[in-house]
Amino acid sequence: MIELTIEQLCEATHGRLRKGYHSAEKCASVTINNVSTDTRTLQQGDLFIALKGPSFDAHQLLSTAVEQGAAALLVEEASELAISFNNAVIEVADTRIALGLLGRYVREKITGLKCAAITGSNGKTTCKELLSEILTVHCNDQNAVLATAGNFNNDIGLPLTLLRLATQHQYAVVELGANHIGEIAYTSALAKPDVALVNNIMPAHLEGFGSIEGVATAKSEIWSNLKPTGTAIVNLDAKFAQTFIDNLTNQKQPYLGFSKDSNLKAADVFATEIKSNLLGQAEFKLNINPASFENSANTQQNITVQLNLPGLHNVSNALAASSMALALGCSLLTIKQGVESLQQVAGRVNCSVLSEQLTVIDDTYNANSASVSAGIDLLAQYQGQRLLICGDMGELGEYAEQEHSTVGEYAQQRDIDKLFTVGHLSQLATNAYNAASPNAGAEHFSDKQQLELAIDAFLSRQKSKVVVLVKGSRSARMEEIVAFIKQKF
Ligand code: ATP
Ligand code: MG
Repeated sequence: MIELTIEQLCEATHGRLRKGYHSAEKCASVTINNVSTDTRTLQQGDLFIALKGPSFDAHQLLSTAVEQGAAALLVEEASELAISFNNAVIEVADTRIALGLLGRYVREKITGLKCAAITGSNGKTTCKELLSEILTVHCNDQNAVLATAGNFNNDIGLPLTLLRLATQHQYAVVELGANHIGEIAYTSALAKPDVALVNNIMPAHLEGFGSIEGVATAKSEIWSNLKPTGTAIVNLDAKFAQTFIDNLTNQKQPYLGFSKDSNLKAADVFATEIKSNLLGQAEFKLNINPASFENSANTQQNITVQLNLPGLHNVSNALAASSMALALGCSLLTIKQGVESLQQVAGRVNCSVLSEQLTVIDDTYNANSASVSAGIDLLAQYQGQRLLICGDMGELGEYAEQEHSTVGEYAQQRDIDKLFTVGHLSQLATNAYNAASPNAGAEHFSDKQQLELAIDAFLSRQKSKVVVLVKGSRSARMEEIVAFIKQKF
């Protein structure tokens, strides 16, 4: 983080310095260059922000923060202990909002910084990783790009990401997630993107949005905070693409549309000659429509790109990242080098060849029916016995039953040889898979122990090649099953 004085912290957060225990002179000498919201990781000299959540209140931890050397506290209410505290105590009406304001303040302080913001139902983290790699190649500097760490994509994670900005950064690539209306409007207003992407609209987090139309409305909030000179990136293959474009046209915002379909005349960026190798990794030709890039540095109109990430859905993610990079002035060669340098994204379609006989694909980071379908498409490309293991998909509200059935139907339709499910809702996937014939190949297990016994028995009896794909929502913790298979076989 850049260094900030107490005065700047008060200015940024609309905070009030508590009087009576901190002199103005002392205040002027204190500077902060790191923010903490967690006393377990707080370091000497940090500003501690006391957040409140539904099940916690960090104001109860002010004494711990002081003991651990916090140089300043940002609070809604200073306790007696904080009053005796020798350093600065800044009072604000709402610490969550103050954290956001501080993030925005730091973002605005980095001169020349370009921010790329990514939202959508699926593939945000993957697009973020791809774009970060491309921009790092573009700058030829490992330290020029700041990207969201892990999944810090909500109203707390996004400001914390912006607070990590420092003067060496030329680009920020941030992921904006949402499980309720208004969240993207809030986070994008802090990030102020120069380029913004809605990667796709799929039935995810339906509990918070009510319907897929609700998801589309929520994701479109990102446009309202795109800089007037900024570029919107639209996935022309996604549901509601036209609605997104219509919304933009109203705002006279320039946009780039990408597509996996080379026949789509409107596409500015598109893929041709898509081919997959035995590991499901695609090679494709990345093309640009010359009319859309008249003033760009690109003299080439296409380039061949080899993805290390398995699955055809990653061609779409690569097109999204490439379109953002093109909007930021990168060349096709830079894009190729950046995309090809990304080896994998943890927990997302991580392919491990355990033996000649057994390959395991760990896609356990998260799941909704669209991402499971993308996984099934990948699994269907493999030779040998194909086993899909699914835990429950969460946060689907009234659509939960229907979406689990869809997964089972799709696995059956794509000829996946075996489906093992665990969890209450996943029973419906097994039922749907077996709908036509009761013992068609899907089995449901009441708990992970039973599931592990069945996996053990199934894999031990196989004589030919087996490919296993493991999926489930974060709450299902299906990585435990991946660990079991890896340790056992
Ligand atoms: P989250 O909302 O959990 O942060 P995310 O949007 O960041 O997810 P990723 O972490 O990149 O998405 O990918 C999550 C899963 O979604 C992957 O494991 C993959 O199976 C699937 N996925 C990724 N990209 C796409 C896509 N373009 N279309 C369909 N499914 C996808
Ligand atoms: Mg993510």
